[in-house]
Amino acid sequence: MEEVAPGIHKICYDPELRPGVFNTNSYMVIGREATALIDTGWNRPEEVQARLEYIQRTPHTPIGYIIITHRHGANVGGAAAIQKAHGGVIMSHPVEKEHIDAALEGPKVERTVADGETIRLGDLTLEFIHASGHTFGSLGVFLRERRALFTGDNVMGEGTSVVNPGQGDIGEFMETMEKLLRYNAQVIYPGQGPVVRDPKGKLEELIAHRRERENQVLSQLASGPKTVEEMFRAIYTDLDERRHNMARNQVRSHLGKLQREGRVTMPDEGATYRLA
Ligand SMILES: [Zn+2]
Repeated sequence: MEEVAPGIHKICYDPELRPGVFNTNSYMVIGREATALIDTGWNRPEEVQARLEYIQRTPHTPIGYIIITHRHGANVGGAAAIQKAHGGVIMSHPVEKEHIDAALEGPKVERTVADGETIRLGDLTLEFIHASGHTFGSLGVFLRERRALFTGDNVMGEGTSVVNPGQGDIGEFMETMEKLLRYNAQVIYPGQGPVVRDPKGKLEELIAHRRERENQVLSQLASGPKTVEEMFRAIYTDLDERRHNMARNQVRSHLGKLQREGRVTMPDEGATYRLA
């Protein structure tokens, strides 16, 4: 937990305490007239308490907004407790609202925002970006005066972002990376992991990584029809077992995109894919 730039605090609960569990960055953006929180961490008593204590001991203007980048428990969990203690309007993209509301005990999303909408914190302006990919209604936030981009889980400080079938879309993820590049940000504050000081390099790396995976899937199918399991085994040869299901879902997501593009078919309704 630290001030990463004047008036911007990164609040990350101690990862040492929960090995194997993803740890969320939440952020406090302190403007002259109001403060915004971006994401709120898991709903675990010790974690919620740690975040609340950090907010309480950090001098700030009244909390006007609690912005939830997307539906996942790691991002929305602490929102109810923080809202109860500090107030603030809970905000999301309209596509995520019902999912976030379902995860919240008590308060609900009060305001949804569309691509391009802004809020003012006095001297600071937050611009919302519809950033479909990791989830369909993921929200990016651009702090204009600092050229700082808050990406939620579309960009991680380390490694790559995950796109799970049914929740997000790899084709839209790649379009979102191109869209985020156009903001020409100086810094990315990611949903997990360290601050990214080379946004252009990181975004281009994520696009390249997805292209490479797609090519791996296509070359697997070039040698004959295959199941998800066969492709997963061939592509992810050295992966921590805890991440295997995540990796299978990445293969499925790529296959979904390729099917929509008419490049891959699954003719027998079974589980075997082939090139179109
Ligand atoms: Zn997520």
